Amino acid sequence: MAKVAFLGLGVMGYPMAGHLARAGHEVTVYNRTAAKADRWAAEHGGSAAPTPRAAAEGAEFVMACVGNDDDLAQVCRGDDGAFAGMGAGAVFVDHTTVSAAITRALDAEARAQGIGFVDAPVSGGQAGAENGVLSIMCGGTEGDYARAEPIMQAYGRTVKRLGESGAGQIAKMMNQICIAGLVQGLAEALRFGEKAGMDGKAVVEVIQGGAAGSWQMVNRHATMLDGKFDYGFAVDWMRKDLGICLQTGNEIGAPLPMTALVDQFYKDIQQMGGGRWDTSSLIERLRRLSS
Ligand code: NAP
Repeated sequence: MAKVAFLGLGVMGYPMAGHLARAGHEVTVYNRTAAKADRWAAEHGGSAAPTPRAAAEGAEFVMACVGNDDDLAQVCRGDDGAFAGMGAGAVFVDHTTVSAAITRALDAEARAQGIGFVDAPVSGGQAGAENGVLSIMCGGTEGDYARAEPIMQAYGRTVKRLGESGAGQIAKMMNQICIAGLVQGLAEALRFGEKAGMDGKAVVEVIQGGAAGSWQMVNRHATMLDGKFDYGFAVDWMRKDLGICLQTGNEIGAPLPMTALVDQFYKDIQQMGGGRWDTSSLIERLRRLSS
């Protein structure tokens, strides 16, 4: 069993760190709001550290799941950052959804210190984290990945290396690009059915096994029809992710017309006060346009 640090005990990180403790690893956690780290340690029997550096000292693996590019840089760099506490040969595993640019910059800084770095963004949401069945898309050297993979198995069902540093983040962008267009299509179909006087749930029962079916259709249609938007990934986070996709698309010359459009729809939802609603709230925007 390994000595592991976990930085960031949010919706995702808290249960992920819990799986590591349950798998028998010796876990030290750090959270910016210290009370949450104390609660985690009381619940799981690990220890809580006051800074990323203190958590990382002596750890073979340091896992992070914080917010955005700046947050990740803050927990890695500086006197109190994780890199300052990590010894040569240790591996940093980043589960945050961030840009490939910050990933590659931090990978180079880590490598200069003899530290390994694996970018490993996740999909599967809060339920995936709690049930330990996340999909984890990884980038980094084969050696670093091979060492980190058994640790990630504690909360991952599908864990795969897809290329060098940044490849995990590019894969996560592809995931988010797929979701954006898909949810808008589902929202349009369900609203179309409402306006036409159809029973949407009955229609989905018939069509979900065919070519129109999707995870979003199966898992979100009922709550979308009921106007409940507290079941997953928040619109504010989605806008952060789509912003990263659009910026990267510009840099590499990949057109993302649908993604750009849906990003603007999510901006409308933020302006409606729905920044914390889940991503399926695109139907609510259509309802307000067509009430
Ligand atoms: P969250 O609940 O908001 O938690 C964020 C965590 O990061 C908290 O522990 C927060 O500390 C910490 N943090 C933020 N900024 C920090 C900083 N500057 N320094 C130190 N700690 C900082 O977010 P989440 O839902 O767990 O998501 C985490 C990451 O996973 C995001 O990149 C998100 O896009 C991605 N993700 C989320 C989901 C999902 O369904 N939620 C799914 C896939 C991927 P405090 O407790 O002090 O605020």
